[in-house]
Amino acid sequence: MVLINEHYPKLPGSYLFSEIAKRVKVYKELHPEAQVISLGIGDVTQPLAPAVIEAMHKAVDEMADSRTMRGYAPDCGYPFLIDAIIENDFKARGIQLDTDEVFVSDGAKSDTGNIGDILGPDNTVAVTDPVYPVYLDTNAMAGRAGCFRDGLWSNITYLPCTPNNNFIPEITTQPVNMVYLCYPNNPTGTTLTREQLKKWVDYALEKKVLILFDAAYEAFISEDNIPHSIYEIEGAKQVAIEFRSFSKTAGFTGVRCGYTVVPKELNAWDKAGNEYSLNSLWRRRQSTKFNGTAYIIQRGAEAVFSQEGKKQIRETIGYYMENARIIREGLESMGFETYGGVNAPYIWVKTPQDVSSWEFFDQLLNDHQIVCTPGVGFGQSGEGFVRMTAFGKREDTIEALRRIRNGGN
Ligand code: PLP
Repeated sequence: MVLINEHYPKLPGSYLFSEIAKRVKVYKELHPEAQVISLGIGDVTQPLAPAVIEAMHKAVDEMADSRTMRGYAPDCGYPFLIDAIIENDFKARGIQLDTDEVFVSDGAKSDTGNIGDILGPDNTVAVTDPVYPVYLDTNAMAGRAGCFRDGLWSNITYLPCTPNNNFIPEITTQPVNMVYLCYPNNPTGTTLTREQLKKWVDYALEKKVLILFDAAYEAFISEDNIPHSIYEIEGAKQVAIEFRSFSKTAGFTGVRCGYTVVPKELNAWDKAGNEYSLNSLWRRRQSTKFNGTAYIIQRGAEAVFSQEGKKQIRETIGYYMENARIIREGLESMGFETYGGVNAPYIWVKTPQDVSSWEFFDQLLNDHQIVCTPGVGFGQSGEGFVRMTAFGKREDTIEALRRIRNGGN
């Protein structure tokens, strides 16, 4: 008899997106003529930058020639990409990293999930609420979350982020070993300033807590006092792992490339108090379970840092952020309370008259043929909010706002 990992059946179904799809399907069957617009989409819609395409074509041609073809990639990334990452994403911001501190991967979802492999099952975990669900589910799979009751995991410390605390998670007094921080935040689109993030780093240094910092939306930051990397904060290399992704930065959601920084100064301990380098453990984990990101993709990612690549990517991000402005300012002018959308492609919208997230979802769908994401799907503190995204096409974004303003469709 084969035994299963008994933590898996404890997981709630992936209710949010399947329920959205179900309600949209029912609506479309009843109203086949309706032009439904999605402002719920968390995926990019603009094509890859020409510089990226060109680099990938060239790499494909190299693969066609026995003199230049490549086999297995290095487990942790080609030096040409790692050097470009360090030079552009870190050195340019005054952060020094060694090449063996950057681990190229197939994206931030895998890395934020897999990192748990090198961390003990008895660690206690804190997450912000609302939250990107991968942090919770992967800890549940590893047995760190406890039992799921009434929408909450018994062993997880939730850090509510609401208008009451300006979406700034309060340092917890609970005994916690690991904390996930995602800034700019999915789903709320809010950020932490340097001073606010420093409080978390200082706390982690004092209490020997590990910060898992997800910076997947770093490229969307437009304001000066918002850190792009946690390593801009003094001491962070001793307490933080940082996850980055080319998915939203450069439209790589279907191409797959990201990277994780595990500084060599970062240590953790066994129960006997012996110290271990998390960098060494992660290298060991990756070299055993991961066989590298494809050469063609890494060449494409390298091109993101070329002069033309940078310019083209900025234009696409500008396109999305103009959508964000249209949504945010449009809704505000109609009296809606909105958050985010300045340093992130997400706009967190308070539902009017305190209706529930799902009720407002249904109103937008039935009255305006617009799809959003109910905030409660990201955690209990998301109740009474919906998430709208800026990843749609410009004409759809404008049309969606016109419908809400005019009433009807
Ligand atoms: N982290 C956050 C906060 C995200 O919102 C997402 C994707 O939506 C990811 C990570 C996943 O990124 P990737 O496409 O690199 O796996």
